[in-house]
Amino acid sequence: MDKVDYLKVFREIVAEMDGADDCGEVATYIPELANVDPNKLGMHLTTVSNDNYSLGDSDEKFSIQSIAKVWSLTLVLKILGKETWKRLGVEPSGNAFNSLVQLEYEKGIPRNPFINAGAIVICDMLVSLLEVPKVDLLNFIRKSSGIESIDYSPGIAESEIQTGHRNYALANLMKDFGNIHNDIGTVLDLYFNLCSIELTCKELAQAFLFLASKGVNPFNNETVISPRRTKRINSIMLMCGFYDEAGEFAFRTGLPGKSGVGGGIVAIHPGEFCIAVFSPKLNKRGNSYKGMKVLEGVTTKTNSSIF
Ligand code: GLU
Repeated sequence: MDKVDYLKVFREIVAEMDGADDCGEVATYIPELANVDPNKLGMHLTTVSNDNYSLGDSDEKFSIQSIAKVWSLTLVLKILGKETWKRLGVEPSGNAFNSLVQLEYEKGIPRNPFINAGAIVICDMLVSLLEVPKVDLLNFIRKSSGIESIDYSPGIAESEIQTGHRNYALANLMKDFGNIHNDIGTVLDLYFNLCSIELTCKELAQAFLFLASKGVNPFNNETVISPRRTKRINSIMLMCGFYDEAGEFAFRTGLPGKSGVGGGIVAIHPGEFCIAVFSPKLNKRGNSYKGMKVLEGVTTKTNSSIF
């Protein structure tokens, strides 16, 4: 079969977006995100056979925020397996990613590992499971991605610690229901550091390629997780990866993916590729406005999605 010229596809999509409505707002809740140039647009696609296609600001580092929650889930699943699901679910929330209301009536059991409450429970599990949680999690991220230079960003993490009052509220509510076992400050320190990681589109596409190749990272042949659990992670990304807009993303793009409020999106085509897009202006649901458009364009123009 002929190789798809994704660079041509990227160029077409960008040309079509040029001059079209330029919607969305950059996240402003911490200065590190508010000060990002709103006009950045980068994309990078890596195939499982290591063909690479980039356009625009694909080598620009940005705050990946919630995209990093894929790693914390992967590590907990790797260690705990199905035990993981005793303390959280796998259903889309249909509510804002930081909703307290749903957590109250569902008795402190988060709907899934990607809403904030779910990611906080996952971090609590890691605090219990790992000897030196911040170091061990970072080592796992470096090893599984094959990118040794990945690090936490202390400035971003500190800003989040100063402003993340709602995350403290979520953690306290869950502690009251018995679903947080460790000290809240320690758990949230891990959570905020995880969210603080900065990467380029190119690095992101490499880092999550294991999800397109049955759990093995083709860059370093590292077995990150089993094929069965790779399936589960992709399924959760498809159903829950885009806050309360997961249905819309699946409908438009037809791929599992995960977004972050830094304006990044990673999407997986199992057996084919991993693609990362960065554009900081967010739509009303907190997903990158142009990022969604680029990904919809890629699967529509190449007539390929998982469906
Ligand atoms: N650190 C952010 C928070 O916890 C992550 C938000 C996101 O990307 O969804 O609110």
